[in-house]
Amino acid sequence: MDMLIKEKSRLRKTLNKFKERELLIKKFIDDLYWEYDRMSSSGTETLDKLANTLGMKEKGACTVCNGESQLCDDEYQSMECELTEKEIKEGR
Ligand SMILES: [Zn+2]
Repeated sequence: MDMLIKEKSRLRKTLNKFKERELLIKKFIDDLYWEYDRMSSSGTETLDKLANTLGMKEKGACTVCNGESQLCDDEYQSMECELTEKEIKEGR
């Protein structure tokens, strides 16, 4: 039983680490989109592939919900997504 609990917390920590990394990568991809117009066509192609692989729908979309929440848009992130992002960053 004790082993199971330890394993569970180890898995949760690993999952959080991956979530944190995913969020970071999405942020970097989002940053790269600002250079989109200056990139070569193969550069933009790869960037689009990266974004698609991570399930990002559009540039500038909220990196937590991919713009799926009706409250999130290019300029504004909903309080819920902001909290989720904070929690992932803090590794909870
Ligand atoms: Zn959102």
